[in-house]
Amino acid sequence: MAESLVIVGSGPAAWTAALYAARANLRPLVFEGAVTEANRLKGTLPLGQLAQTTEVENYPGFPYVDALVFSEFSRSALPEERYASLRGLYEGRHAHRGKRAIFGPEIMEYMRQQALNVGARVVTDDVAEAGLRQHPFVLTASEGSRTEALALVIATGAHAQYLGVPSEERFRNNGVSACAVCDGALSRFREKQLVVVGGGDSAVEEAIYLSRFAAMVRVVHRRDQLRASKIMQQRLASNPKIEMKWNRVVTGVLGNDEEGVTAVRVRSSVDNVVEEITASGMFVAIGHTPNTDFLEGQLELDEKGYIKWQQINRTHTSIEGVFAAGDVADNHYRQAVSAAGTGCMAALDAERWLATKGFAE
Ligand code: FAD
Repeated sequence: MAESLVIVGSGPAAWTAALYAARANLRPLVFEGAVTEANRLKGTLPLGQLAQTTEVENYPGFPYVDALVFSEFSRSALPEERYASLRGLYEGRHAHRGKRAIFGPEIMEYMRQQALNVGARVVTDDVAEAGLRQHPFVLTASEGSRTEALALVIATGAHAQYLGVPSEERFRNNGVSACAVCDGALSRFREKQLVVVGGGDSAVEEAIYLSRFAAMVRVVHRRDQLRASKIMQQRLASNPKIEMKWNRVVTGVLGNDEEGVTAVRVRSSVDNVVEEITASGMFVAIGHTPNTDFLEGQLELDEKGYIKWQQINRTHTSIEGVFAAGDVADNHYRQAVSAAGTGCMAALDAERWLATKGFAE
């Protein structure tokens, strides 16, 4: 028998959709993705992008609290096997002491558990293929199982592109970031020298945003002009805290475990001269890739592969009964709270659509 509602994804959008749908008695089935080396390299492990970061200071409802309180909260809220995956945050050499914001993996475990508590069901696998040109829709998981669904919420997110240079991975969350709005205000970056890599609108926006907190921001761009819009270029040029490093490519990130990033190594594409730019942080702003490979040819995507919402303030896609939420359809805000917001909207849209079609009780 076909499922009423299947949700694909496992970030804030998916778990919020699952929470709302479960409370509406739709018994949603969530495909949360698989734990594979390929997904680790791509950055699409279960629990989404937020689970890759440390402190989340901008998700409402979580002020700073003593780390021991998070430990007790996790022990009380989560089953033993899920608590075990967080244990390293509370015990041992790397445990955080004193007050802090909530960590990404904690908030994502809480979201998942909250959805399960009210009746969401979970399959720990990727959806490899989606047949959306038939109804019920058919989803084929990586390990081969087929699931039919009357309605679908796609919340598979996106992943930031990184440079792939030596040490970049080692210093992720220790000075290397792909999100200035998320991390720029952290104390480790305040009044420090920072590097932004990229030349499009996002790179310029990130540089301008960071200049509010940083001592100096240097934008490393491999060409001699920016791709960013003229207005953004003017704002950048008039900002005394931003300096352009034209015609340079990043070749490595330098640092140590205690301080994190201490410098970024760049090479000139004009004369091959190598230079080390002192920096406490490197923000990579070279774009994001939406996780929509499995939807190719099935529903309308934009030129970058993001799902196209068909109406302002609605989560309907080009296929009736298929809804999209979070970063997979939002190349603009890319925040956990906005993803959760559209997750809620998608569940409500799906619930109403099922009722209108006479599928719901
Ligand atoms: P995602 O979080 O991208 O999750 C989607 C998940 O779906 C994937 O990870 C994968 O597990 C699963 N999936 C993908 N494809 C499939 C498939 N075919 N089948 C099954 N499952 C699949 N935002 C903030 O608001 N505050 C912050 O402090 C902050 N810090 C960040 C730090 C980092 C390092 C990063 C990368 C992002 C940060 N963000 C932050 C952004 C925030 O994490 C994202 O905006 C948010 O997670 C998007 O949520 P989402 O639900 O749309 O999808």
